[in-house]
Amino acid sequence: MTKPASCTPHFDAIVIGAGVSGMYALHHLREMGLSVRAYDGAPRIGGTWWHNRYPGARVDGPSAPLYGYTFSDELVKEWTWTETQSSQPEVLSYLDHFADKFDLRRDIQLDTWVQGACYDEATQRWTVDLGDERVLAEFVICAVGALSAPNKPPIPGIDDFEGRVLHTGDWPTDPVSFEGKRVGVIGTGSSGIQAIPEIAKQAAHVTVFQRSAQYTVPARNRPLVPEELAAVRENWEAVRTGMVTPPPPEALLPMMPGNGRSAFDETSEQRHALYEELWTNGTLGFVYGNYAELLVNEEINREVCAFLQGKIREIVDDPETAEKLMPDHFYGTKRPILDDGYYATYNRDNVSLVDLRSDPIERMTAKGVQTSSGEHAIDVLVLATGFDAISGSMLRLNPVGRDGVRLDERWKEQFHNYLGLMVSGFPNLFMIHGPGTPGVLYLMPLGAELETEWIANCVEHMRSQGKGAVEPTVEAEGSWDSEVTELANRTLFPKTDSWYTGANIEGKSRHFAVHLGGPAYFERIRQIADSGYAGFVFEDEF
Ligand code: NAP
Repeated sequence: MTKPASCTPHFDAIVIGAGVSGMYALHHLREMGLSVRAYDGAPRIGGTWWHNRYPGARVDGPSAPLYGYTFSDELVKEWTWTETQSSQPEVLSYLDHFADKFDLRRDIQLDTWVQGACYDEATQRWTVDLGDERVLAEFVICAVGALSAPNKPPIPGIDDFEGRVLHTGDWPTDPVSFEGKRVGVIGTGSSGIQAIPEIAKQAAHVTVFQRSAQYTVPARNRPLVPEELAAVRENWEAVRTGMVTPPPPEALLPMMPGNGRSAFDETSEQRHALYEELWTNGTLGFVYGNYAELLVNEEINREVCAFLQGKIREIVDDPETAEKLMPDHFYGTKRPILDDGYYATYNRDNVSLVDLRSDPIERMTAKGVQTSSGEHAIDVLVLATGFDAISGSMLRLNPVGRDGVRLDERWKEQFHNYLGLMVSGFPNLFMIHGPGTPGVLYLMPLGAELETEWIANCVEHMRSQGKGAVEPTVEAEGSWDSEVTELANRTLFPKTDSWYTGANIEGKSRHFAVHLGGPAYFERIRQIADSGYAGFVFEDEF
């Protein structure tokens, strides 16, 4: 490949982000023989698992060892997870081990925030702006994270507050102690619900400012017994096959086939016995072991909601607090949450709950949070207010494509893309876990591997054919947008305001941004590649 005559450093591929996805992309592309450099603004590797170091942070989704890379049998067999739901420090150690084992650090530049990226049509190259340096690359892989642009709501008067303001997704590097402190927490999503019980164990007082109540199911985290880990290792091939095999075509929802039983074939007593059993077992099994109708049928979903509301009333001693904790959305249409004693935390003397729907925040004062009912004095404010999810980190990068068009212009109305991997007008720029992928509703490390493999195969295809640029057509993007929307419309997801739909960010365009195909999505993108990359346009190499 001819390199441009320039003294600017040049790589075949630049990876933006050194988290779970970025590090795998670096590894895989480097193994193909490409020159690759990864950049990350953080002082260390880990992405999400570096930034989200709040108390209580741990994997809640598919428990270890399924939350990890799957491509290396050796890695699977040599890493010993200690709990069913690994803690944030353990995941970070695992990622350190991965980086060391595959000698990744020599190609990762940390403390380097990528300020922008601009495509030059004449040279078929991207210029990546690192602030005090520019680098060139033929391919840019955006592994910028689906949940990494923190949402910091502009609360009036926040700069007047004399205490400390922390965000769960941007946790400070110095140790934080809540000992003897009055702590305010805004936000009751996964992060808030993991953090609140832990903070309450330390703090003098915790005031939770809740805008929307949430359903949460016991995490039932426990030590992983050696026999369980041994069984996974011994049957690894079959376990991995299970992770990538799509459910049968008749499944109501490919991302969640359910327990294979129809709720309508069972009596109300049988259904309640199942909910009780799932609650007792906890974990995300409450979703995946539930009836296939859970996320598509209002009647069944309402029954599950009523079951969970009953649990809240059982656990929370004060009936008034329990009522404030009653969610009003369809269960599972916001990201399901697992907890360790969340509802019971409200039985503690040092925890109080403010319902922002009836008592909204007016402003921050020097000493605390002023709601319409009065001032709540605090020393520390924890924002567990989530992220500008899925599209936010790409928009923060805001690359400039053909004809000087910026991504925020292309994405003003909708996050147009094809296969969730590429955007028309932005040749050779690939996304991992971008809008339109199953990303946040699949196994994220495995999803990153599979998306990277697709990207790598595309690069290989281009090289073998003497192509210098690839991008999707606008028509292909249109059909992909429709497919994502059509799949979502078969479910209850779009009926709820959530970060899946962009509703958590003021002014953000509302579109359900996740492809609900689960493993079938990966088969689909593979078929598109195998059949000659329908929907993509290739340009000869200059
Ligand atoms: P989130 O689910 O978006 O929750 C944010 C919370 O902040 C919500 O309760 C939201 O209320 C509230 N909020 C936002 N802006 C507000 C405002 N201006 N005033 C008052 N309240 C406000 O964010 P998250 O908890 O950080 O979780 C995001 C995602 O990250 C999760 O869904 C999950 O996918 C992932 N995550 C995973 C893990 C894990 O696996 N271990 C842990 C944490 C997070 P509304 O509901 O009314 O918008």
